[in-house]
Amino acid sequence: MKSWWLQRSVRLRLALWYAAATALVLIAFAWFVYEVIEHRLAAEIDRQLRIDFDLVEAQLSIDNEEHVQWNVRGSHGDEGFARMSAWFEVWSENKELLLRHWPVPEANIKDAPPAPHGSTLKFATVELERGLFVRMMERPGRVQGQSVIIRVFRDETEMRRSLREIVEVSLLGFPLAGALAAIGGYLVATRSLAPLDAMARQAHRITSESLSKRLPNLNPNDELGRLAAVFNETLTRLEASFAELQRFTSDASHELRSPLTALRAVGEVALRDDNDPAMLRETIGSMLEEAQRLTDLVDSLLTLARMDATKADAMRAEVNIAALLEEIRDQFEVLAAEKKQTFGVTSDHNVVVQTDRTLLRLALVNLVHNAIQHSPSSSKVTLAAARRPGGVDISVSDSGHGIAPEYHEKIFEPFFRVDKARSRSGGGGVGLGLAIAKRAIERNGGRIIVESDLDRGSVFRIELASSNQLASSPATT
Ligand code: ADP
Repeated sequence: MKSWWLQRSVRLRLALWYAAATALVLIAFAWFVYEVIEHRLAAEIDRQLRIDFDLVEAQLSIDNEEHVQWNVRGSHGDEGFARMSAWFEVWSENKELLLRHWPVPEANIKDAPPAPHGSTLKFATVELERGLFVRMMERPGRVQGQSVIIRVFRDETEMRRSLREIVEVSLLGFPLAGALAAIGGYLVATRSLAPLDAMARQAHRITSESLSKRLPNLNPNDELGRLAAVFNETLTRLEASFAELQRFTSDASHELRSPLTALRAVGEVALRDDNDPAMLRETIGSMLEEAQRLTDLVDSLLTLARMDATKADAMRAEVNIAALLEEIRDQFEVLAAEKKQTFGVTSDHNVVVQTDRTLLRLALVNLVHNAIQHSPSSSKVTLAAARRPGGVDISVSDSGHGIAPEYHEKIFEPFFRVDKARSRSGGGGVGLGLAIAKRAIERNGGRIIVESDLDRGSVFRIELASSNQLASSPATT
């Protein structure tokens, strides 16, 4: 049943729900109406019975032989009384039947009601024969000073017929109303869900080649409109990611091709000419250089790919920042010394951060490498860590040629270099260093900000969020 239900269309399910709800409301309403009418009809019969009682009691007498007599006084008597055709019984106080007056032959009555039990006012419904229900009122009365119990009766057939008709009409009406509600519900649902159909058709047409297409949005204020808007926003993001991926792939291919072309060219020249061993040695040297460039590029690409593939929080642990900075100083001291640069490290003590050490180190290595590379000889490169309210800042400062403000965003894009020619000839990378650093820090829940201007040096600041900071003690430098 459940699977049958789930296989139906939404509009059919809505229509059925609607029909069921309508039927329920109708049944509740009909039941209420039935109860009210039944109550009112019963009350009316009881009222009539009280009138009947008074009329009967007034027209009873006792004859000379001590028999109770009923004297109909004139045909102009009460109309209700005439209609009921005087249906009553008179009982003595010691439960003896004194007079019975029924409009039907007594032989027809199969189940005459038993003698009265007590002598109080009592109403009851009795079935005299199959299907013949009468309402009975029993009450003590007086006939010429003698105490008796009088019972008056009224036929309930009319009342019961009216009630049965209500039930019959309802039983006929419910399926009809339910069917009409279902049809109406189906039409309304079809109309309301039409935009969803249009959206589904359009979504079907969207492929990776046509990500610029958007879903139709007829009314941005309703639920379907909001769904279309959210879907369209997702498409916009997807389109941007796709474009970035395509750019990345074509840049990567281009970067891979350059060293490969150089390798081939150098190899072909070496093969063509009669080279002496010294020339061959030089050729192999430059081929190895290109091979190293290729290896570096592939390593960087792998680093980026691995970063995207691993879970962000997987490797977080407590990291002592001062110790990490010392480690990086040890790694770059020689390189800085080669360029006659001073490499300074300052850090607050006991700055411990909950972070992925490998990723943070990777980012810092790239930043320090850039700082040394883009600064002139005899300048100073500084690596500093400081606490701030709500987090820790780690900055890499140099006094190099700086970066124009219009490139501050772009330098973090993969393969972007401010001066491609200079970067390559000057031993620079392929433009992946900052992209790797940015992604590494973002995966640590932080961010990188650059403050720089042309010929004013640069400061790259890593801001790690406060939730990453575990312990801190008063600042010392
Ligand atoms: P690369 O591998 O070329 O160093 P990066 O992604 O690390 O690539 O850097 C991108 C570009 O940003 C570099 O080509 C360079 O132009 C610029 N850049 C990065 N760091 C600095 C810096 N400290 N000073 C000046 N320019 C920088």
